[in-house]
Amino acid sequence: MDIISRKQFDVIVVGGGAAGCATTYNLAKAGVKVALLEKYDLNTQASGRNAGSLHGQIQFEPFDELGDEWAKNFLPGLNFLAESLKMWKTLSTELKVDLEVGGNGGLMVAQTSSDMLALARKIELENSIGINSRLIDRNELKEKAPYISQSMLGAAFCPIEGKANPLTTAPAFAARAQEMGAEIHTGIEVFEISKESSKFHFKTSNGEFVANQIVLTANAGLPKLAKFFGIDLPITDVPVQVSVTEQVEKFVNHLIYFTTEKLTFKQANSGSLLIGGGWPAKYKNNGEPTFNIDSLQSNLKVALKVCPSISKINLIRTWIGVGNGTPDHNPIIGMVPNTPGAYIGMYPYMGFTASPLMGQVLTELVVNGTSSVDLKPFSPQRF
Ligand SMILES: Cc1cc2nc3c(=O)[nH]c(=O)nc-3n(C[C@H](O)[C@H](O)[C@H](O)COP(=O)(O)OP(=O)(O)OC[C@H]3O[C@@H](n4cnc5c(N)ncnc54)[C@H](O)[C@@H]3O)c2cc1C
Repeated sequence: MDIISRKQFDVIVVGGGAAGCATTYNLAKAGVKVALLEKYDLNTQASGRNAGSLHGQIQFEPFDELGDEWAKNFLPGLNFLAESLKMWKTLSTELKVDLEVGGNGGLMVAQTSSDMLALARKIELENSIGINSRLIDRNELKEKAPYISQSMLGAAFCPIEGKANPLTTAPAFAARAQEMGAEIHTGIEVFEISKESSKFHFKTSNGEFVANQIVLTANAGLPKLAKFFGIDLPITDVPVQVSVTEQVEKFVNHLIYFTTEKLTFKQANSGSLLIGGGWPAKYKNNGEPTFNIDSLQSNLKVALKVCPSISKINLIRTWIGVGNGTPDHNPIIGMVPNTPGAYIGMYPYMGFTASPLMGQVLTELVVNGTSSVDLKPFSPQRF
């Protein structure tokens, strides 16, 4: 275990995923004495296991299941992604690491006329907040993505979507934060937090830490930490699988989704295809997530239906990551109720995309007590 000489900081950030590393980076850049505490290594949970999609459109499954009213309520959350996507464009330059940000937009393909109608309604909502997605017909789909099955009628095309490399993003934020004086401590689990005479006291696996302000970006670990401040956060956990193929010549330039069944599909810069979409893993008797062969088979069947030419490409690996959700799919961002100096930041399902803006917004809260983004729809007290 590390011997840590200094355990008092202006700000302590809990959680070393993309959200926590981006926040630590922005705080260090603002000249704040900040430390990040992470239970395992950096980027080992959702942020390092995700599929690297940069999302900018309403996802079809919740739209189909929860309806138009839900989607209207989700527009602030979608706007957050759209603003974050603008930041991704220059992030590689800013962090001095090639994060492999790219892609020619997203294509949500549909096989039925009723799904095409649903896509048109979804697009109207996206356009209402300035996202210039549009419906394209079979001919334009063929032109843009000739590898998509000819049985598809068309797609929702969202030009702001793309992909990036989740393995390098959070570590790049952390490396730049460290260069600017931030302390990053891994292998330290926060067990308990309390506020005494305007300071926050942490009980951890490496003794006691003290801070003037705190930022909780612990994602799946948030409900436990929020309880110390008397709030219940309804964050759900679902273990899902992502698969990767051998490297093949570049032929997919878009982030592909399918309306009828769960699918995300894209090609990394290395040439590997990443195939996912939220197919669930299963649980062992001891409660740990484990590989689900039925899910993998279903996932591959859907991928083949949408893109038949991948049938000869070998799959090399499938892994599991735990996806975290909120009941309304909007993020939870803001001050911990009645606790000045304590802030929470969590974006459900698509938090990799959201991480650059999350880091900026949480820093604004710490430094100014307010944010340039309207955080009312994301209040931790709304549940
Ligand atoms: C399989 C999968 C695929 C996904 N695909 C995409 C995608 O393509 N695009 C997209 O935008 N999003 C995707 N997501 C969602 C995205 O990965 C997450 O929303 C995002 O990574 C959350 O980042 P985070 O930093 O908030 O959380 P995490 O990355 O989970 O980081 C939280 C950290 O807090 C630490 N922690 C928790 N409790 C404590 C404690 N008590 N003490 C110390 N440390 C603690 C954890 O160890 C963890 O490292 C996917 C998720 C999964 C699981």
